Amino acid sequence: KTRNIAIYGKGGIGKSTTASNISAALSEQGYHVMQIGCDPKSDSTNTLRGGTFIPTILDTLRTNRKVEIDEIVHNGFNDILCVEAGGPEPGVGCAGRGIITAIELLASRNVFEDYKPDVVIYDVLGDVVCGGFAMPIREGIAEQVYTVSSSDFMAIYAANNLFKGIKKYAASGGALFSGIIANSINQTIQKDIVKDFSNNTGTTIAQFVPRSLSVTRAELLGKTVIEADPDSEQATVYRKLAKTIIKNRKKYVPSPLEPEQLKEWAERWSDSLLGQKDEISPGCRLN
Ligand code: ADP
Ligand code: SF4
Ligand code: MG
Repeated sequence: KTRNIAIYGKGGIGKSTTASNISAALSEQGYHVMQIGCDPKSDSTNTLRGGTFIPTILDTLRTNRKVEIDEIVHNGFNDILCVEAGGPEPGVGCAGRGIITAIELLASRNVFEDYKPDVVIYDVLGDVVCGGFAMPIREGIAEQVYTVSSSDFMAIYAANNLFKGIKKYAASGGALFSGIIANSINQTIQKDIVKDFSNNTGTTIAQFVPRSLSVTRAELLGKTVIEADPDSEQATVYRKLAKTIIKNRKKYVPSPLEPEQLKEWAERWSDSLLGQKDEISPGCRLN
């Protein structure tokens, strides 16, 4: 049976980077993977395809001819199936609704039955968990939801909103939560911030992922770390994360913080950060 996993998170937080490295690691481990970009940015699968963009489902649909499956399902690294839902025409339509149109097209054309992926990863923009972007949760398209978050407050704020969305639809068959992927964590205090947020919301952390120059380098080559730098420590981290996700059958309803609680939580951490030194490499000092 296909495992359907959704990865949410604030824009620019590392969803696509993390999703693509998980896909690449899973493909190495023998799984047949499909990655579906559900972000109007439409670059989810770029590092699985040498840094290139593929035609999106919504763009292809707008041509008004019969869409052939090979126009929208593309082969990437290690035969990973790459799909981009795409976005609405600028200024017109609902991005979230567009994503559902795209997923419905895949289902109606029997793409999942024909390609038989073991794992489908939905890479979903999670700045706003509006009706549109909550659709993959609401309709129960994914069985398990993860969020990528750093220790930055805006990323945590977006994660907390995601928890609210999951909680809202949980009773009516919506998707449940399975863990936080803590990204760009290089200092103990960053780890502690995410851990404490997780403790306060009754959630778990799937993995801490450091910010790494091997990601920067791989992206410049249009590749995942798994492909560009397979022997690096960062590749080991992604392989471990991929294994954790496959093993993890836990799913539960998170307990989001109310606005007042979140504000108090943030203020407590601002006290802890007082007097903390930034780590700046010597060559980077401005004076
Ligand atoms: P999103 O899909 O959430 O919008 P991306 O995956 O596109 O975010 O990542 C945004 C930027 O951050 C990219 O340039 C990516 O290379 C970088 N990035 C993400 N995670 C890491 C990491 N662990 N180490 C270094 N750079 C990272
Ligand atoms: Fe945009 Fe969400 Fe409103 Fe759709 S529901 S138009 S995605 S804000
Ligand atoms: Mg992305």
